[in-house]
Amino acid sequence: MKRLLRGGRLVDPINSRDGAFDLLIDGDRIARVGRDLPVDAATQVVDVPSGFVISPGLIDIHVHLREPGQEHKETIATGVAAALAGGFTSVACMANTEPPNDSAAVTQYIIDRARIAQGARVYPIGALSLGLKGERLAEIGEMHRAGIVAVSDDGRAVMDAGLMRRALDHFGLGKALTGEVAAVSVGVVDGASLLDLDYEEDSTAEVDVNVVMTGDGRFVEVQSTAERVPFDRARLDDLLDLAAAGIDDLRRYQDDAIAAPRG
Ligand SMILES: [Zn+2]
Repeated sequence: MKRLLRGGRLVDPINSRDGAFDLLIDGDRIARVGRDLPVDAATQVVDVPSGFVISPGLIDIHVHLREPGQEHKETIATGVAAALAGGFTSVACMANTEPPNDSAAVTQYIIDRARIAQGARVYPIGALSLGLKGERLAEIGEMHRAGIVAVSDDGRAVMDAGLMRRALDHFGLGKALTGEVAAVSVGVVDGASLLDLDYEEDSTAEVDVNVVMTGDGRFVEVQSTAERVPFDRARLDDLLDLAAAGIDDLRRYQDDAIAAPRG
């Protein structure tokens, strides 16, 4: 069966389209997008009210479906129905159910309930620690095989660095950066070394350098390009000093922002 959605605002980021377009659906596929698409007798025309948006399905990676355990607040069926009504075709649900999603049995339960509900796609997020208590690692391997896509203790920050490290190891991420990191651009504009180029400066820069550093002053990335004339070692050192100072500023701003009382 063919259906033509007419009217409404079509947003299609991959093809850079945003405006008044028709959308032709053939079965379960998008057949055509365009203006004033022709309609044959077999096509059902759906007039989309103005102000409505037609877009790819939205994804919410942090939802609470509350089932199992708190069905008086929400069930998987009501949650995925509400998601679809709001345009969300995929949701990732957090683990703070009762019992928490810290084992393959709970993960499987969520997946089964979601399949029956036939609403938005459900991607369970497993607990990082057993019972979300922040003490011992949850059954991450078994939950992963059952279908979790991530682990998180939701609103409870993991305070034990060793526990966090073991959780990252499960996903082959044990060597991930766990400290601070910041990035800046530096460059040469009109012969002068400059920190944090804006668009205009960047587009006329003679040398262009991107630097990523850790909070303790080590490099993650240095990427530099001479746009016209090659530059010498002294200039590079000069630019790296400038970048290091800028990153140190950023690190301090981040520390201050994190330490500031929340309003
Ligand atoms: Zn949450």
